[in-house]
Amino acid sequence: MRKNIVAGNWKMNTTFQEAEELIENIIEKLETEGTKSDVVVCPPALYLEMVSDYDNEAKNTLSVGAQNVSEHEKGAFTGEISAAMLASMDVQYCIIGHSERRKYFGETGKQLAEKTERLLDHAIRPIFCCGELLEEREAGNHFQVVEKQIEEALFHLSEDEFSNVVIAYEPVWAIGTGKTATAGQAQEMHAFIRGLLKNKYGAGVAENTTILYGGSCNAQNARELFANPDVDGGLIGGASLKADDFIAIANSF
Ligand code: PEP
Repeated sequence: MRKNIVAGNWKMNTTFQEAEELIENIIEKLETEGTKSDVVVCPPALYLEMVSDYDNEAKNTLSVGAQNVSEHEKGAFTGEISAAMLASMDVQYCIIGHSERRKYFGETGKQLAEKTERLLDHAIRPIFCCGELLEEREAGNHFQVVEKQIEEALFHLSEDEFSNVVIAYEPVWAIGTGKTATAGQAQEMHAFIRGLLKNKYGAGVAENTTILYGGSCNAQNARELFANPDVDGGLIGGASLKADDFIAIANSF
C-alpha cells in the first residue's frame, strides 16, 4: 500500500535561528497532535544536520529531505553537494526537478535522470517534480508535457529502482501564486500519471507509487485535494514555513 506523504520545501528561506524555531515548533506539534501522513522536511542544505539532530532527539517524528543534489558522484564541482554527502548525513529524501530549478538553473531531463541515479545509488528517495506551464495547459498540452518529463528523467529505471521514487505533480502556474489546481484537475493528472506508470512498470508499481500534489496547497484546501483517490499528499512551499499550517495539512487525510 502506498504511503501518504506531506513534504515541506522551505526553499531559500529562514536564517539558522528561524529554522531552529520552525523545526522545534513542527516537532512539538507532531508530538502533541500526531500525524496521519509521513512528514518530510526539506530545509536549506546548510541546516540539514541541525534538523536531523532535533528530530533524533525527538525520536524520529519526521524524515529529512534535501532540495537538490549534484548529478556528479564527486570531484571538482565547486559549491555542489553530492548524494554521498547527503546519505552520510542521514538524508532520506531529495526534491529534484523543481520548476524553479528547471527555470532558473536550466536543469534538463538528462541531468534529472543522472540526479535520480545518484540518489538511488545512495538509497535516497527522489521526490521528482513535474508539471506544465500555464501556456502549455491553455494549449491543451499538459498531459504530453508531464509524460515527456517523466519519461526523460525516470523511465530508464528498473522496476526495483523506480519503486523508491515519489512523484510530485506541480502545475507551474499554481506554485507560489495562490492559484491552486482544482481537485478535479489534480485528480485527472494524477490518474494520468498513474496510468503511465502502469503501462511502463505494471499495476503493482503504479498502485504503490506515492504521487503528491504541489502548488498553493494550504490548510484550507488540502483536505479537498487529498480526498482524491490518486492524490497521496502534498509538496508544500509557502505553507510549510508555518508549523501550524504545515501540520494541519499533514493531518488533512
Ligand atoms: C513548491 O514550491 O513546491 C510549492 C508547491 O510552493 P507553494 O506551496 O508555495 O505553491
